[in-house]
Amino acid sequence: MTQFAFLSASTFLKVPPRHDGAPRPFGLAGLAWDGSTTNRPGARFGPRAIREASHMLCDATHPLFDVSPSEALDDVGDLPLPNTGLDGMRAALAKQLPALLARQHMVWLGGDHSITLPILRAQRERLGQPLAVIHFDAHCDTWTDHFGEPSGHGTWVYEAFQEGLVVPACFTQIGIRSAGERAARDYVRDQGGQIFTARDLRGRESSAQLADVTGAIRQRLAAHGHPPLYLSLDIDCLDPAFAPGTGTPEPGGLTTNQVLTLLEDLAELDFVGMDCVEVAPPYDHAELTSYAAAAFVWTYLAGRMKRGLQPSPGH
Ligand code: MN
Ligand code: MN
Repeated sequence: MTQFAFLSASTFLKVPPRHDGAPRPFGLAGLAWDGSTTNRPGARFGPRAIREASHMLCDATHPLFDVSPSEALDDVGDLPLPNTGLDGMRAALAKQLPALLARQHMVWLGGDHSITLPILRAQRERLGQPLAVIHFDAHCDTWTDHFGEPSGHGTWVYEAFQEGLVVPACFTQIGIRSAGERAARDYVRDQGGQIFTARDLRGRESSAQLADVTGAIRQRLAAHGHPPLYLSLDIDCLDPAFAPGTGTPEPGGLTTNQVLTLLEDLAELDFVGMDCVEVAPPYDHAELTSYAAAAFVWTYLAGRMKRGLQPSPGH
């Protein structure tokens, strides 16, 4: 099997593909897998659509942070992964993760949400400690099985807790609203984490209006010694009005402004990586969903640069 990633004709922010020289501080890779989607497939086309949407950002100078990630980013392309089964995909991905994570601060474009579990496993192994997680989603992803199979795109949170990959008190869910039995809906809270449902956040978009959310996240992290923090952003956290192009849309969701406010106001935290998943271009309109995803990834990267390129000691 080739050791080279599948380089898309276009890259995120039009940065040059990764070269053999010294790595730039940040790397971005596509994980074009949607074999675990519950409803509408298509997230395998997410990475290329998000890359295309990012081209509208031109020089990518962020208006709030006043930095551009363009000079600090390599686009690794889409990783070579089999698309015939979840176990095979994860095994192939797991082999590639350690070298990528050792080389650069990585951002992952999904793909469906089943990609996050192997990433957390690799980060847990690399860092030698469980991670804090901020998880944007319409769905709790805490189900104990995937329609009779042990794992899927809706089980990774449950599995991450079961495997000790995360710090329970520092796991925060934002935007949750889908149908689901109480045990699944409240699983993260029952384990000691916190949940801000979409209903909790209705009508609140500004920094001041969301200060209880950002304050609670900071307080939890401080109380537990600032564990390394991972961001997992399922695009279906957004209302379908803002992100129709996804496999399992749930009305009554977050606005783009709500997510941007939270990402901007939490930019000083000690993130070690992020994913943006479940963008399914076949159901998109006017590329709304891809533009939102590109803006979120860009904001994350600009926030990392603003904070300082070097992770804090130990991370
Ligand atoms: Mn999800
Ligand atoms: Mn979801």
